[in-house]
Amino acid sequence: MERRISRRVKVGGIEIGGGAPISVQSMTNTDTHDIDKTYDQVMRLAEAGCDIVRITAPDIESVATFEALKSRGVSVPLVADVHFSHKIAVALASSGVDKIRINPGNIGSDEGVRLVAEACKSNNIPIRIGVNSGSVEKTILERHGGPTAAALVESALYHASLLEGYDFCDIVLSVKASSVPEMIRANRLLAEKTDYPIHLGVTEAGARRRAVVKSSIGIGSLLSRGIGDTVRVSLTEDPTEEIYAAREILRALEIDTQRAMDIVSCPTCGRTKIDLISLANEVESKLSGCKKNIKVAVMGCAVNGPGEAREADIGIAGGDGCALIFKKGEIICKVPENEAVNRLLEEIEKL
Ligand code: SF4
Repeated sequence: MERRISRRVKVGGIEIGGGAPISVQSMTNTDTHDIDKTYDQVMRLAEAGCDIVRITAPDIESVATFEALKSRGVSVPLVADVHFSHKIAVALASSGVDKIRINPGNIGSDEGVRLVAEACKSNNIPIRIGVNSGSVEKTILERHGGPTAAALVESALYHASLLEGYDFCDIVLSVKASSVPEMIRANRLLAEKTDYPIHLGVTEAGARRRAVVKSSIGIGSLLSRGIGDTVRVSLTEDPTEEIYAAREILRALEIDTQRAMDIVSCPTCGRTKIDLISLANEVESKLSGCKKNIKVAVMGCAVNGPGEAREADIGIAGGDGCALIFKKGEIICKVPENEAVNRLLEEIEKL
């Protein structure tokens, strides 16, 4: 897949753009002042495969949390989300934080923008300008008749120009909308107009099923056109679910080659004699941390399962009270249904 050429920005140990692997981001939803809970969630996100964690910084006291997380040895890059106060952003820039997300247009006076740009520059950290349909300036909204794709892009480029005015170009841009077609249009337009790296996401996507579908279409269709350097799936869920969803999008597009384990399962039919839905869910959950580059099949019947999943490295095919384990379509053993998952895991261990 040919990717859009973008500048490269460094966020702690992770690079965004310039051909770097597409990184996955999420955001904590703990109270930022609760250092222990925030630390635990950051660590769970990192364990789930999150490359960059964003934390809201609602006030100057939040700076202490970023300092504490760094002093506890958190290695996943941290992004501080700041609104309306250049003083918080300036204080954060020297707290060890790895990137700041602001909208320069709402951070205060020109002098405030200059101070933030200088603080980030001297600490060698980038800024993400995060525009969404709710944050577009009134004058731009009036000119475009609402938060259209063109309005989102104009706002993002306007904010970038404010930073560029202070010779600051270490920038990542995002233009998010809750409407999937608008978000796609906005990012395609943005990609035409600038070479800054792009952070993709559908904002306010909703709860699990709806949000995963919206994000998969919005983020996935842009990535498939080579647009996008880092992604965040927004879910009204535990944030680790965002990581699993983002990783599945990257896997489905065969972009995430380091965590390329795939599970395929049949939709079941009248031939199915075992509880395949429970079996498939159990396999999904037990293999969620598997880093092997393999394809695992969970199929409903012994008649067609092994053959239909011949391209899988290993799989289970349900029988009547039993299951067959097969490799590349060849049956290797028959086990009782209640032992099937454990036996499958043992065989996967050996691969
Ligand atoms: Fe039906 Fe068997 Fe095909 Fe599954 S693998 S859909 S159970 S025929």
